[in-house]
Amino acid sequence: MTQAGSTEASRVVTLPRAITVRELGEALGATSIDVIKELMKRGVMAAINQTVDYEVAAEVAQALGFEASPAEAAAEEHGEADVVTEKEDEDADLQPRPAVVTVMGHVDHGKTSLLDAIRKTNVTAGEVGAITQHIGAYQVDDNGHKITFIDTPGHEAFTALRARGASVTDIAILVVAADDGVMPQTIEAIDHARAAKVPIIVAINKIDLPAADANKVKQELTQHNVVIEEFGGDVIAIPVSAKTGDGLDSLLEHINLVAEVAELKANPDRPAEGTVVESEKDPNRGPMATLIVQRGTLRVGETIVAGASSGRVKAMFDHLGKKVTEAGPSTPVEVMGLGTVPRAGDTFAVFADEREARDLAEDRQHDANESGRTLSLEAMSGDIAAGRISDLNIIIKGDTHGSVEAINTSLLKLGAEDVRVNVIHTGAGNITESDVMLATASRAIVIGFNVKVDPGAKRVAETERIDIRNYQIIYELIEDVEKAVKGLMQPVIVEVIDGHAEVRAVFRVRGGRIAGCMVTDGAIRRNSLARVLRGGEMIHESRVSSLKRFQEDVREVANGLECGIGTERFEAFEEGDVIEAFHVEERG
Ligand code: GDP
Repeated sequence: MTQAGSTEASRVVTLPRAITVRELGEALGATSIDVIKELMKRGVMAAINQTVDYEVAAEVAQALGFEASPAEAAAEEHGEADVVTEKEDEDADLQPRPAVVTVMGHVDHGKTSLLDAIRKTNVTAGEVGAITQHIGAYQVDDNGHKITFIDTPGHEAFTALRARGASVTDIAILVVAADDGVMPQTIEAIDHARAAKVPIIVAINKIDLPAADANKVKQELTQHNVVIEEFGGDVIAIPVSAKTGDGLDSLLEHINLVAEVAELKANPDRPAEGTVVESEKDPNRGPMATLIVQRGTLRVGETIVAGASSGRVKAMFDHLGKKVTEAGPSTPVEVMGLGTVPRAGDTFAVFADEREARDLAEDRQHDANESGRTLSLEAMSGDIAAGRISDLNIIIKGDTHGSVEAINTSLLKLGAEDVRVNVIHTGAGNITESDVMLATASRAIVIGFNVKVDPGAKRVAETERIDIRNYQIIYELIEDVEKAVKGLMQPVIVEVIDGHAEVRAVFRVRGGRIAGCMVTDGAIRRNSLARVLRGGEMIHESRVSSLKRFQEDVREVANGLECGIGTERFEAFEEGDVIEAFHVEERG
């Protein structure tokens, strides 16, 4: 889903609150590399599939000659759900809903303690036994006003949800320890909340400590443009202690106040839509997902699509583990019955037709596989670091049974507390096509030790985007997997040349000039990035904007064939120029 669009005439580009580097490049008619370069100039290091905020994206857009304007919040918020039959809610149907709150702040300032303390003081005595239940979100009742807390503190989690298109948080609680003051992650958290345009309430925590200095915290916050009410600003700061419980009532009261001002409303009387905030595969119950309903009411028995997963809701549980049959706006529920595990940040919606739901989920799976992301050790390591996956699936092929066994034993020892290394297949001999097919089906990578890769395997690995790693030295192999398990291996971006075409003639067409070319190696694709080389020097870089064979638009032109090529923002072709088509991938 691309949420950005541009109009060439006015050079105004509409950008969403968060956009991936790839999408930004597409919206600006620039290469991802152009975008990455511009980001680097601004001190932002982002890979092609990573997300940047509107503010940063707008700066890049400006540097590349565009004027950015923000996308309509409403259209954007429900972008994913567009596919679902959409009917806008009438004002009369809207009813107040609880606020959804995320807790952020510097490490050790007491985010987890605060979430625990709020939960403990606000469940009734009979329910206390159940409060160890963790489903990723919980709800408290403050004198008849409900508040939903996302139970994964930190701006990283908050932004990870946003990066996938979800905007579920209404209010951010910024926790600042009164004895420590504003620290680097406090500032990051402020920026993340700001980028999402989510109002902030400051909880000045640990006021029980003798070294607590709430005033100093307020002054430091002012330096970061978070101006507290008593200093003339509009941000509320509440002194609290997660340890003694002091101030928690006041914090909840003020959350409700801010919620009231924000007039949070939703129509409970429509098919449900919302966001996945947590998910896991339970050994007994299968895929489980914690959903926060954002509009409508979700009921047991309904069919839902969540990201690339679909299924019928067999049972629902609230945050205390109690079975429920329905969940209205802002309610977190754990849902059983999805066919696969959706990802946190995926949006979900109810579908009347089970078949339609399955088809859409399959389409999305397909899209995900086509997204250009290679399943590599680096990519998986990145996913582990971000907490998106907890299994590292590996296929091992080695020259002898002895070496395979030795590698297997060493790899199985590498599993960490929260990451499992699953060796799903081992064997002696070359890496074959069937190894790669198995890897594709099980989302695994293939590791070879002193073996060759069959040509068929290479071909499938390329089309299915599966990483094959070959080693000659066992300890290097083990070391790499160990790094991946620890989430320490970062994906790198590589450029892959698709092919070259030589310009033989230049044609004038309606709307500009195109190059009449002969493809001299590889292939030129309609969606390729492209650069124009003259005398071996690059004179332009953008992307293929049109690709034709005999007036017909085509997707690809292979080696040895003639074609017409247009490139974005460039038409000064000369005979003898070479057009180099390429794409970029995440890889090791
Ligand atoms: P997080 O990293 O922000 O989630 O912080 P934690 O909730 O893990 O708390 C970090 C440390 O501060 C722990 O040792 C807590 O016991 C302690 N702590 C948290 N809140 C308070 C508080 O209000 N008063 C005091 N004295 N200690 C606190």
